[in-house]
Amino acid sequence: MRSDGASASRVVIVGGGVIGCATAYYLTRAGVSDVVVVERDHVASGASGYSAGILTPYSGSNDPGLLGLSAASLRLHAELWEELPGVTGIDHGYDLKPYLRCGFGEAGLAESRQFLDDRRAEGLDGEWLTGDEAREVCDWLSDEVVGACMTSVEPTVDSRLLTQSAMQAAEISGARLQAGEVVGLSGAEGKMSGVELRDGSVVEGDAVVIAMGPWTNMAGEWLGYDVPVVPQKGELLYMHLPQDEAGDVEQDRPSATMHNMDEGGVILTRRLSRTVLGATKEDGVGYDREPSRYAWEFILPRVRRLTDRISEADVTHHTACLRPMPADGKPYVGKAPGWENVFVASGHWSEGVHYAPLTGKIVADLITSGVTDVDYSAIDAARLAG
Ligand SMILES: Cc1cc2nc3c(=O)[nH]c(=O)nc-3n(C[C@H](O)[C@H](O)[C@H](O)COP(=O)(O)OP(=O)(O)OC[C@H]3O[C@@H](n4cnc5c(N)ncnc54)[C@H](O)[C@@H]3O)c2cc1C
Repeated sequence: MRSDGASASRVVIVGGGVIGCATAYYLTRAGVSDVVVVERDHVASGASGYSAGILTPYSGSNDPGLLGLSAASLRLHAELWEELPGVTGIDHGYDLKPYLRCGFGEAGLAESRQFLDDRRAEGLDGEWLTGDEAREVCDWLSDEVVGACMTSVEPTVDSRLLTQSAMQAAEISGARLQAGEVVGLSGAEGKMSGVELRDGSVVEGDAVVIAMGPWTNMAGEWLGYDVPVVPQKGELLYMHLPQDEAGDVEQDRPSATMHNMDEGGVILTRRLSRTVLGATKEDGVGYDREPSRYAWEFILPRVRRLTDRISEADVTHHTACLRPMPADGKPYVGKAPGWENVFVASGHWSEGVHYAPLTGKIVADLITSGVTDVDYSAIDAARLAG
């Protein structure tokens, strides 16, 4: 696909989340060494540092354009796992375990079966298990589980480490991180020459990438039109396992991710962290990032239906952060309408970690050559003009 972006010698990226850092990485890989990531807090301080880290090759929507993109991003994640640790020395926890979508009653079973049918229609792997077969895969599962759809194509990563590793790899190739809050674009209407920081200074650049996560709507004032990305609060609980203290962290972890399809609620096992329990989705609470009692009340009953091995006393960590929720459910990626050299990479909602490499590649392609071999029409930021 073509966008009439021109090659740039210095690129300024606003936001050091997984999207901004992956974009910095792909830009440096494409030969742009002068990349500046401007971050007002620290790398991965937003949702990128606190996500569940599931990479899913499916799409919540039936948009065929998204399915192709999703699979492409998963392939790039596998490549990143080959590339990044060797460059930065950071193991970002890439891991692949079975995923069990469990049904208890009619509704959950129907949903799991529908999920399996949809995946098979897409040519993806999936298997139907009875409750007993599911318990053989993961002995944490309660007797209440009647059936489950099992897939084995959804890796997990530690999204904070992935973000840090992508940024470090970019820095090794010449990129730099600059502390500061961007408050506007500088330059003439339609073509900017840099970004203005709150302290009055300007970071000059030939191209700007807006990767501000749930704060992207604030760029609407700079661009001259609404950028409909709003925050959605999401909380996770982390389980302390007695084995953590003994240092034997591998022992007695769930051998599969377990999902309660009747009511929601996920128990996620990740290679590098404690077992994660999730997740809430709260709209309309603005930029509130305080962990709340509501998360305990929402998550614990749902995950305890999956297993009796969780008690409130096992929960030792609790995080809250904000997903960047787009108005029409799809990310905005590509050239900002009406601007020659401003690009948008935001609105990835609950799949930003998954889509980060593909987003980085698309934006880097467009900036360096004005063209990409990825058909990104389903997520093209051009629709912001409408
Ligand atoms: C509970 C939960 C679970 C999740 N689980 C998954 C999952 O399993 N898989 C998945 O793929 N995704 C998941 N997500 C979603 C994923 O975390 C997000 O989509 C992704 O992190 C968004 O990345 P980002 O870089 O766009 O935004 P952010 O991580 O929010 O980064 C934006 C950055 O921009 C900076 N910034 C903003 N404005 C300015 C400014 N004016 N100047 C300078 N800096 C600025 C911010 O400080 C921030 O660091 C989950 C999210 C939540 C909340």
